[in-house]
Amino acid sequence: MDKVDVVVIGAGVVGLAIGAAIADKGKELYILEKEEVYGQGTSSRNSEVIHAGIYYPAGTLKAELCVKANPMVYEICEKHNVPYKRCGKLIVGNGEAEVAQLDSILKHAKSIGARDLEMIDTEQIKKLEPNVRADQAILSPSTGIVDAHGLMDHFHREARRKAGSDPLVLDTEVTGIEPVKDGFIVRMNSGGEPFEIESRVVINSAGLFSDRVAEMAGIDIDKAGYRLHWSKGEYFSLTGKPPALMLIYPPPPQDAASLGIHSVPDLTGRLRFGPNAFYVDEINYAVESEKEPFWRDIVEYFPDVRMDDLHPDMTGLRAKLQGPGDPVKDFVIRHETDMGLPGFINLVGIESPGLTSSPVIAEMVEKMVRDYLD
Ligand SMILES: Cc1cc2nc3c(=O)[nH]c(=O)nc-3n(C[C@H](O)[C@H](O)[C@H](O)COP(=O)(O)OP(=O)(O)OC[C@H]3O[C@@H](n4cnc5c(N)ncnc54)[C@H](O)[C@@H]3O)c2cc1C
Repeated sequence: MDKVDVVVIGAGVVGLAIGAAIADKGKELYILEKEEVYGQGTSSRNSEVIHAGIYYPAGTLKAELCVKANPMVYEICEKHNVPYKRCGKLIVGNGEAEVAQLDSILKHAKSIGARDLEMIDTEQIKKLEPNVRADQAILSPSTGIVDAHGLMDHFHREARRKAGSDPLVLDTEVTGIEPVKDGFIVRMNSGGEPFEIESRVVINSAGLFSDRVAEMAGIDIDKAGYRLHWSKGEYFSLTGKPPALMLIYPPPPQDAASLGIHSVPDLTGRLRFGPNAFYVDEINYAVESEKEPFWRDIVEYFPDVRMDDLHPDMTGLRAKLQGPGDPVKDFVIRHETDMGLPGFINLVGIESPGLTSSPVIAEMVEKMVRDYLD
């Protein structure tokens, strides 16, 4: 049986970023991906926003990693020609209650270290985005958009360059993980054939399936609090000229399940609105919802958008630890030594802002691996 140093399970943006951070010529590394192309999961079904880290609870990894990652993502994009746009974002409020909500969001965001934020009034909003209706807004110039595939291509190139060969193995689904002395036997189905290797370190970055992969290693996911709840997010696209070039968000809904229906320009100049949020039990990427509730939310801040100009677009699934009615849950990024699994690193519940945070998540995991192997 082949013996390697590190196996990363899953080649989404997080698994690829980890691969790029860990790869070096002295280490045998495999990144195993069940699909025939990398990044086909949640990493290619999201808003592609480079978040500034505004909303996440203080003391969470979500807050810390996102605030740290925001300038890093821009740096990576500039240095490695990954398409991006620092388009900026407005969180807009109409009426007393929403304006009060904006005040507390701004206070909170500053307390967790989010950069460059300021409160602006109607006149300033009109100067930036004349089609937006709002009494007040938080301006976040550091929020932007990135080509998620471009970012993944960069991480893949970097992993290949540092490893000296391509560590990525596609069409390979991990089906079993058995802890043995000094490592793990990783069982897989590779191109239709069963195969196994032994690895000293296993990194579970399997996105929507990371709870199941944790279970394969023998973890009781209910006891550990790792069971995932999939939350679907749907988008509608707008035909015609986009009413704004910046990202426009309402204040987030109180249920903490999403950030609210916002406008998402992409790098080609198209505009989408979304995502909504509802729990599902199966993977089905069709848009199921009616457009009217979307339109009602949108006209609160874009009064001239017509319902007829909205069309079902794409959907994505959030890998949430937060079940229905639960409070916000943090990312799990853990070396599971205390579960009797030295060498097993879990990444579970990597929902938003996982795309933004990917380079910093990768740094964190690289350090765990270095501390363990060296
Ligand atoms: C609607 C929506 C909007 C979002 N918007 C944003 C945003 O604007 N900004 C932001 O920062 N974040 C956003 N996110 C979050 C972001 O998309 C995710 O945090 C990120 O893509 C997670 O990446 P990942 O690599 O962990 O997961 P994935 O991209 O799902 O990758 C996991 C990979 O593991 C593979 N896999 C699974 N099981 C196995 C197995 N047994 N063997 C081998 N391979 C396996 C899968 O095929 C997949 O390729 C959004 C998410 C959603 C759903």
